[in-house]
Amino acid sequence: MAEEPKPMSLEDKLGLLTYKNDHQTHIKLLDANVCLKCPDKPCATGCPAGVYVWDEPQKKIVVSYENCIECGAARMLCPYNNIEWQPPRGGFGVSYKYG
Ligand code: SF4
Repeated sequence: MAEEPKPMSLEDKLGLLTYKNDHQTHIKLLDANVCLKCPDKPCATGCPAGVYVWDEPQKKIVVSYENCIECGAARMLCPYNNIEWQPPRGGFGVSYKYG
């Protein structure tokens, strides 16, 4: 009997992607003060690509837009609609390596 294939890890799946980075971000936080008061910071825990990281010493969310996989999760997770997200400009962003 054939062995069941192992499910792919998130890291394996992210490894299938390639990025063409723009010099300008396609993600903006509208108000840093809102993030300060946001109790759970779900963008920092729910983004599968780790784009949003809470920087405790600086007391702010750091956005690594270059890692964005364009899934849209952050906009759904933010309870304050504090994330302005637009698709990357034409020719930039994420794609599959073996497309
Ligand atoms: S979920 Fe929204 S308000 Fe909360 S830390 Fe993230 S961007 Fe800021």
